[in-house]
Amino acid sequence: MFLGVGTESDCIFCQIVVGSSPATKIAENDRAIAFMDINPATPGHVLVVPRSHAVDLLDVEPDDLASCARLTQTVAQRAKERLEADGVNLLNCSGAAAGQTVFHFHLHVIVRFRDDVGKDRIGLPWETVPSNLAEVQRIGELLV
Ligand code: AMP
Ligand code: ZN
Repeated sequence: MFLGVGTESDCIFCQIVVGSSPATKIAENDRAIAFMDINPATPGHVLVVPRSHAVDLLDVEPDDLASCARLTQTVAQRAKERLEADGVNLLNCSGAAAGQTVFHFHLHVIVRFRDDVGKDRIGLPWETVPSNLAEVQRIGELLV
């Protein structure tokens, strides 16, 4: 169990994958592993990473991404059942501008606790800007 692949010697998550740095690993599949975030946003915050090093969402192999997604669902199911979570947020930060601080692709599985400020102080949903349909459509056309 928990056999690794990671390749980048200076990458903390590659080191966790191969076991040369400590982590509380909780689940794995052929292409991904899950371990506890060392600075949790809420109790039960888990990170899911591909075994193979990839920098971010644009870099990760599609099959690795799919394996991360599958493992994320397993973790979320366990969190709801075993931690009595009321909900789960998935988060990926790709790029420093998006808040990425560790440059090995990872999905945050953040368990949520309704009406429990002792466990959950996350401020979601985000602040929205007033809708401008023409602008929404213009940007949408750039993404078709
Ligand atoms: P991000 O800012 O999206 O790149 O998230 C990086 C996450 O990795 C943060 O939530 C950190 O708390 C977490 N983290 C950094 N180093 C470790 C580590 N050695 N073990 C577990 N989690 C870590
Ligand atoms: Zn890595």
